[in-house]
Amino acid sequence: MRIKSPTTILPQSQKLLWYVIESVLGEGGFGITYAGFDTNLQRRVAIKEFFPRQWCARDTLLQVVPHSETTKDLFVWGLRRFLQEARTLAHFYHPNIVQVRTAFEHNGTAYMVMDLEEGVTLEDYCAAGDHRDEQSILDLIGPLLHGIAKVHEAGFIHRDVKLNNIIVREDGTPVLVDFGSARQAPDAGAHGLTALVSRGFAPFEQYAGDGEGLAQGPWSDIYGLAAVLYILVTGRIPADALTRSARLTQGAMDPLMSTSEHARIDCSRELLAAIDRGLAFSIEDRPATVDAWLPHFPSRLNVAPSERVLVHGDEDSSRQRERMDPGPERLSSAATLTDAEPTGLADAIPMEGLRVLVVDDEAYIRTLAQRVLDRLGIGEHHGADGGATALETLTAMQGEIDVVLLDLKMPGMDGIEFLHALAETPYRPDIVLLSGVEQNLLRAAEEFARSNGLSVLGGTRKPIRPDDLRRVLVKYVRTQPAQPAMPRAGNVYELTEECFDEGLSTGALVPYYQPKVVLATGRVSGVEALSRWRLPDGSLLSPDAFIPFAERTGRIHALTLALMRSVFADCGDWLSNGIPLEVAVNVAPVSFNDPHFPELIDDYAAMEGIASSQIIIEVTERTITDDVVAMLGVLMRLRLRGITLSIDDFGTGYSSLKQLHKMPFTEIKIDRAFVCGAADDERARSILKSSIELAKRLDLNTIAEGVETSADLDIVRALGCDMVQGFYYAKPMPGAEFLRWLADHEAGQ
Ligand code: C2E
Ligand code: CA
Ligand code: CA
Repeated sequence: MRIKSPTTILPQSQKLLWYVIESVLGEGGFGITYAGFDTNLQRRVAIKEFFPRQWCARDTLLQVVPHSETTKDLFVWGLRRFLQEARTLAHFYHPNIVQVRTAFEHNGTAYMVMDLEEGVTLEDYCAAGDHRDEQSILDLIGPLLHGIAKVHEAGFIHRDVKLNNIIVREDGTPVLVDFGSARQAPDAGAHGLTALVSRGFAPFEQYAGDGEGLAQGPWSDIYGLAAVLYILVTGRIPADALTRSARLTQGAMDPLMSTSEHARIDCSRELLAAIDRGLAFSIEDRPATVDAWLPHFPSRLNVAPSERVLVHGDEDSSRQRERMDPGPERLSSAATLTDAEPTGLADAIPMEGLRVLVVDDEAYIRTLAQRVLDRLGIGEHHGADGGATALETLTAMQGEIDVVLLDLKMPGMDGIEFLHALAETPYRPDIVLLSGVEQNLLRAAEEFARSNGLSVLGGTRKPIRPDDLRRVLVKYVRTQPAQPAMPRAGNVYELTEECFDEGLSTGALVPYYQPKVVLATGRVSGVEALSRWRLPDGSLLSPDAFIPFAERTGRIHALTLALMRSVFADCGDWLSNGIPLEVAVNVAPVSFNDPHFPELIDDYAAMEGIASSQIIIEVTERTITDDVVAMLGVLMRLRLRGITLSIDDFGTGYSSLKQLHKMPFTEIKIDRAFVCGAADDERARSILKSSIELAKRLDLNTIAEGVETSADLDIVRALGCDMVQGFYYAKPMPGAEFLRWLADHEAGQ
């Protein structure tokens, strides 16, 4: 569509947050749709701007301002509606309905970001003559009918179904685009809004407005779809509803001749009759819902969503169905997910089931270790004489190894090099460090492995004693629920940049929640959100398996933003159910380089109706370095908004008192290395004690993480810690499960 007055559109290259405007796609309904580029996710998007010209104009600073006090009310009303719809639609997934990604307020108006569907409009598709028989028309319309019925079930109407709002993708699947034609105001007619109705496609009630007592509903979209079918079959645009109305009120004949009279292709009587039904002038004569319309179609019509390739191949149909569920059911769909997951895995995997690889250059140590493993009843173990052989073994076994016992001192590729190389593979066995080296070096190696996204169960001294080894291996079994297993052999998913981006925008990132308990009261103050990645086969990856990848490939900020959106949405749901909770999100330092980060958080929070005081940002101590000044600006702006800033994994980094004092942190979160097992570990206990003392002196809130046992709990309580988090209370879990846990916990208080 041509834009009449180019001064009112946003200029090319104009930035909107992290989007850049590329061109105008069209103008219709209540706004302008642009093609744009999402510089975060590095992909093209469609951006719809709420810009009803009847009510507003753009000033030289690109701010959108209502014309007058009267139009201001209408504008504000429409804007709210637009945002509200966008937010709900963002939770709605259907392969034949354009995906709304986000919405935000900016420039005095609002924007809705949608997928940019590349393909041809149905108009061009028809012009190319690609629809020349009844079956190809039915194949196009079936998926659309399915999608639009879902939209209606969710309580929405599209209001602008027309030839140019249907895109035929390269794979031949149709998609309905361009949502966001806000509902008309009761007196919209008086403001000349009728001009924006698409002639030929809009039913009379859309011209008349609600004031005439003619309600819009699913039947209005049915009219539009029937008009689309009419054009496909006859090659003509149907007479528009205003002309029809004028003639009919004069008692003349309906100028819209029945479809059969103009049909240019060989069509069944049923299809022609179905089209006529949908184009009935008065609402009473039209089917009220898609379901009521379907029986009029030929039985060859297949009403089902298109099968589309998503992440790494097709999703199975049950997952497809789950994805189609609109927003309000998000919590319950999370419940479906949990139900499918194995529970009580700790009991399900006996230690005997572990698969262990012993990596040591000395043959006798390997033999000894394997003998000990035999004695522990571990049936499957392998040996490797160095890092390179170990990597080969892992590859040959497609990662079917749960634990690697690793010697640090080896000729050739040493243990540290091996850890580094392992982090580059898709395999994530847990590590047990075998060493004759001193404690400090062991700790440093553990730290190194962790910062490379690997998980270290602990260390054991040489010569290996069965009891020592059992003690560390048992941890593997215990940590399983928190770290869902990697997919098994023959099923190894390698995260690629494409599948990661696709996954990020199709909901593969799932928040798990672990409660935080206030020691003085026993009450839950909030949760920490921990990321999980859902693979196409439904299994989950633990963060160790994808966070380092996201960091390495510059995607961690996008991941954080995506996670925040879901977490804030859950938090908003809880709040509206009378459960006010704080939510803590882990944020990588690169996010503090984004000067828009504070405003973005504001936007997301506002969208979900939560307060910034409910938000906690955790920053790992290790990442707080000397050039912290660079991130200080953003940190301060976050703090000014009332967001809590917490130093995560405290004790593992090197932040000095002086440094900490300059920073706007209000909480320290003591690393689980000093908490879990503190009862038997003198050194851990003393670090725990001094950390808590330091925090108290600096007037910081303290939280101990990794409380696994009542002994751990007793110690942190005795040392005066404020809050705790750990398996003793609960492992991280999906939102719905967390709510059930919370209810039980509160009942036990
Ligand atoms: P973290 O922030 O220190 O998160 C706490 C981790 O400790 C979680 O592991 C949790 O399951 C585990 N944990 C909690 N209580 C206990 C306990 O009592 N015993 C033991 N053994 N472990 C406990 P998870 O979920 O595997 O997360 C691992 C790390 O991945 C996180 O450590 C965090 O650094 C990173 N991560 C997770 N989600 C995100 C994210 O969205 N963004 C970023 N940047 N990092 C994330
Ligand atoms: Ca954390
Ligand atoms: Ca931590």
